Amino acid sequence: MPPSSTGSSKKRSPPAKSAASETPSSSPACPFLKTLDQFDFAFQPSVDRALVLDLAALAFLAQKENVLLLGPPGVGKTHLAVALAICACQQGTSVYFTGLDAMIRALAAADRVGKLDAKLRSYTTKSQLLVLDEVGYQPLSRAEANYLFHVVSARYERSSLIWTSNKSVTEWPEVFGDRALATAILDRLLHHCHVLAIQGHSYRLRDRALAALASPPPRPN
Ligand code: ADP
Ligand code: MG
Repeated sequence: MPPSSTGSSKKRSPPAKSAASETPSSSPACPFLKTLDQFDFAFQPSVDRALVLDLAALAFLAQKENVLLLGPPGVGKTHLAVALAICACQQGTSVYFTGLDAMIRALAAADRVGKLDAKLRSYTTKSQLLVLDEVGYQPLSRAEANYLFHVVSARYERSSLIWTSNKSVTEWPEVFGDRALATAILDRLLHHCHVLAIQGHSYRLRDRALAALASPPPRPN
């Protein structure tokens, strides 16, 4: 497979080295290797199939645009992010795939030993595409949100980001712990951005019995 991908671990941070055979799945941060062919659009009708296929043509990378995948757990945000990252790898784009939490921990650790600038470059200039998975699962302190602001700001109009989150944009001030910082991040991220807001059931719970367990019981008439 053409070059190349890099990635960081959710548990440990060093990025995997680029190699011609790598895909995002070679990174421990990438939870699975799934393609668009494996995505069941019929199961998730709120996903704009035409937009996804358009994104897979990768013009957004040349335009330095971002992709925001929003929705509750299990609706396929990470699947679509991985699939788009694979498309990018296949056309020779360098991709860095990381969970937000891992990125923040890596930056904080580097900051503690005076190596923040060097570490920031791992997420800003070293890849043409950065995939930030699971934004919003953990609230960030102001200092942590500031790291994220640096990354988003450095990539703004220079290189693309794919971002997945279970939180709606209105919840971001809460997640980022600071309204001004949240607005600054939001502003840059959304200025040139394709948004896929997915609403639907978790694919993990597609089994009816599991779905029934997850749903509140029907109200009596
Ligand atoms: P999210 O990131 O939204 O929590 P994931 O992308 O991790 O969800 O999806 C959970 C699991 O379900 C993964 O194994 C993924 O491949 C699968 N999945 C989710 N949606 C679909 C779909 N529409 N078609 C096929 N597989 C799906
Ligand atoms: Mg996910």
